[in-house]
Amino acid sequence: MGKGILRAKYGLSVFKDGTIRFDSTNTVLTHFKPKEIGTSVEKLKELGYTHDIYGRPLTSDDQLLELKVQDIILPREAADHFLRVAGFVDELLERFYGLRPYYNARKPEDLIGHVFFTISPHTFVANAVRLIGFTNTSVVMAHPFIHAAKRRNADGDEDSIILGLDALLNFSRSYLPNKPGGREDAPLLLVTQIDLEYVDDETYNIETVDRYPLEFFEATWRFEDPSNVKLRTVGRDYREGKEVRISFTVPVISIEAPRESRYRKLNTMAEKLEAHVALEAKIRAVDLEDSLSRALSHHFIRDIAGNLRKFSQQQFRCMRCNAKYRRVPLSGRCEKCGGELNLTVHRGTAVKYLIPTAEIINKYGIKGYLEHRVMLLQEEAEQMFSKSNQSKLELLETEKPKKVGLSSFL
Ligand SMILES: [Zn+2]
Repeated sequence: MGKGILRAKYGLSVFKDGTIRFDSTNTVLTHFKPKEIGTSVEKLKELGYTHDIYGRPLTSDDQLLELKVQDIILPREAADHFLRVAGFVDELLERFYGLRPYYNARKPEDLIGHVFFTISPHTFVANAVRLIGFTNTSVVMAHPFIHAAKRRNADGDEDSIILGLDALLNFSRSYLPNKPGGREDAPLLLVTQIDLEYVDDETYNIETVDRYPLEFFEATWRFEDPSNVKLRTVGRDYREGKEVRISFTVPVISIEAPRESRYRKLNTMAEKLEAHVALEAKIRAVDLEDSLSRALSHHFIRDIAGNLRKFSQQQFRCMRCNAKYRRVPLSGRCEKCGGELNLTVHRGTAVKYLIPTAEIINKYGIKGYLEHRVMLLQEEAEQMFSKSNQSKLELLETEKPKKVGLSSFL
């Protein structure tokens, strides 16, 4: 009860197990520069980052450092959240347990160096990690070994982060519901030190090389089976008892990815498709025709056919009393109240993807089966909607199909 009141004071909500979570998408990171995570060189030296990857002492915020396995970098938006959690925990320690406050965190930097726990959806193992900085992206960045240690499953790529003392003070098994799945997402086990022996072995396949040898490129010419090309990997180094250090072959200018994806910036499906195809057309490794065919046959043609079917098998709804009809009554009006009937699936929905798909077929000269499929769908749609001398495309393009005659169904 007392804990609940204190949480409310800090505007925090509680998870089913008694802890407070910050949920975020995650990504892997192996190297960073101090300036990328907003942490000072002095602070990083305190945290054990004394030398850069070339063995030079750390003096500038531009030097490249190898991320330590259990260190994480949080999105800046998490800072405000965890400052409130730290405030709550400190007040809890004082008022509830009669102890001294622990965090005394006033600004985001005060949280750096503290222990957090990270847990994946549907698992019950939390791994201890240390916060070393923030970025302006919306993702949690951590070492691949951490992600592998969480043994995330198909639901992956999402992390729940818990402030260390919050998990230790407030988690209780007795809160967990006693039903299947009730113990999921709860930190039943705490791992304090990552052991490569016990992490998901997917991570063993990460290459540790900093350049690919000539033999590698020669093997690609022969279409050699990948397992025959022996490169240094995490698994190999580990089994041979070597120190496992991940390197990289292509440096980046900044670890900060775009803050919002293009997919969210583009509005209509047609715009998204257009941008997607335009990018593919520029990439030499993409077989454009093959990729377009797949996209069309797996997504668009199925959607269009499905939507047309839904349109032709739809119910009709009385605009006055909301009565639903599987068939339009012969009178053409509601049998209960005489009100006007309307469609429940609109033409816009039915043909949404038809125009962009037809345009792609034309623009990229896709021939054969797919072209014919789309032509047939187009004809089907035209027959379904066309009854005047309006141009066919015009008819399909009309977005607001207010006056689709019920007669098309009679
Ligand atoms: Zn009615």
